[in-house]
Amino acid sequence: MTPPGIFWLTRDFRFQDNPALAAAIRQGPLLALFFLDRQLMAQGAASRWRLERALKAFDAELRRRTQGQGVLILKGEPDKLLPDLLRETGAREVHQSDWPAPEMRRMQIQVQDALKPLNAALILHPGHLLTHPANIRTGQGGTYRVFTPFARALRAFGPDRPVPPAPQRISPFANPPSGVAIKDIDLAHDMKRGNSVLTRYALPSGETAALDRLEDFLDHAAGYADQRDRPDLDATSGLSEHLAVGEISPRTVWAIASGRIRERPETSDAIAKFLSELIWREFAWHLLIDFPPMAKVPWRDEWASFPWRGPNPDFAQWSRADTGVALVDAGLREMRVTGRMHNRVRMVVASYLTKHFLTDWRLGLAHFQDSLTDWDPAANAMNWQWVAGCGPDASPFFRIFNPEKQAKQFDPHGHYRHRWLAGWTGEPAPEALAYFATLPSGWSVSRNWRERSDLQHGRSRALDAYHRFRGDG
Ligand SMILES: Cc1cc2nc3c(=O)[nH]c(=O)nc-3n(C[C@H](O)[C@H](O)[C@H](O)COP(=O)(O)OP(=O)(O)OC[C@H]3O[C@@H](n4cnc5c(N)ncnc54)[C@H](O)[C@@H]3O)c2cc1C
Repeated sequence: MTPPGIFWLTRDFRFQDNPALAAAIRQGPLLALFFLDRQLMAQGAASRWRLERALKAFDAELRRRTQGQGVLILKGEPDKLLPDLLRETGAREVHQSDWPAPEMRRMQIQVQDALKPLNAALILHPGHLLTHPANIRTGQGGTYRVFTPFARALRAFGPDRPVPPAPQRISPFANPPSGVAIKDIDLAHDMKRGNSVLTRYALPSGETAALDRLEDFLDHAAGYADQRDRPDLDATSGLSEHLAVGEISPRTVWAIASGRIRERPETSDAIAKFLSELIWREFAWHLLIDFPPMAKVPWRDEWASFPWRGPNPDFAQWSRADTGVALVDAGLREMRVTGRMHNRVRMVVASYLTKHFLTDWRLGLAHFQDSLTDWDPAANAMNWQWVAGCGPDASPFFRIFNPEKQAKQFDPHGHYRHRWLAGWTGEPAPEALAYFATLPSGWSVSRNWRERSDLQHGRSRALDAYHRFRGDG
């Protein structure tokens, strides 16, 4: 029996630019493997729900290419299960795309240790990032802490090129052990909101959908630079979910978008701005690799003693999307119904929690982690720290978004608020009503939203706390 080429899927559900998959195919008949392990189940429910869709789309495409064989799904911990699998099949290497989240890093080390006695190894491959962090260092050899010089250095170095796509016909490993049937998996069984609502508002998933979305976005990208902050318009790419589960690689996005700039130079400003956003994603990952506790510990040490409020009634209102501030509630309801939220609104919502409500950014981070279908451990942590003022290159704490002014500026006709907020004005939109279908029975939220906020009080309390903390008040 020829040993298989083992490909351990994590967050790289794609056939294009997947060096780990390519290496496994080169090695022997393919055995694609996915673990239902503790690390996966510790991730947020919406993110697991989205990952299941990615897994199913990948599995269907793999069956097409192998004429019938899908992903082997094993329930349990990789470091416990892989040694037996290698003994059984005779394989000596496991290929994985490096997803450098801290929990995965720990598991990679455990797997390496477990494979050593068999003279076998876990081989990590690139593809999750534009380039390896070792390639983007400051003059002193450190990690960049400020975005603009980071972006300059990355552009000067140039992102890695995508590798060729996997072949249309792939020979599968003939005798795979049995695993969990794909139709039996239900990764988000514990989701505390309407699974069916999320499904109704889902964007198409899978690699083909990701590539189509990118092409479609680039066809209409001319207004991106001016309109990307407008939640009432559909002006951004919507690629974050696809990137979060690896249905498209950032290197592919970069290569295709750069090609468009060459073909249609008139779109170059807009596409350059879009690529700069992709560099924010990269910056977040390089920072997380350099500082793995970024989701738990303030990046700036001095913020460890900031007097954040812990769980409190304001936080409960915020997490139910019922604060009485229109743009904040609209954004949080959009997230409940769709798993998505516009970037400008994420900033306003996060600012409102950490400043007007003076509540610990880690509570907001955890709520987003559980609710976002595009959850990304690096982007989520960096952005929460950025808004709270304790992160690298952060917005200073005293810069407090006024949600009403933000709404006037970025939702000038109120279309976004009307879409998501029943009772705000006129007849409620279907999306606004869908929010009520997501509520657990114990929550009482009025169907007739009313404004009730004291923005001035929140702002003054935040600034007082900040000045006392700095010792200048
Ligand atoms: C508090 C907070 C939490 C966030 N949590 C996440 C998260 O968990 N997952 C996530 O993918 N993004 C997160 N973001 C960043 C951003 O809001 C989303 O990436 C963006 O809304 C996705 O929409 P898009 O794909 O249409 O973006 P586009 O404007 O089309 O941008 C293209 C791509 O660039 C990247 N990008 C854009 N903005 C940022 C940013 N500020 N930081 C890092 N990468 C960025 C994304 O990969 C995005 O898909 C967060 C932002 C804030 C303020």
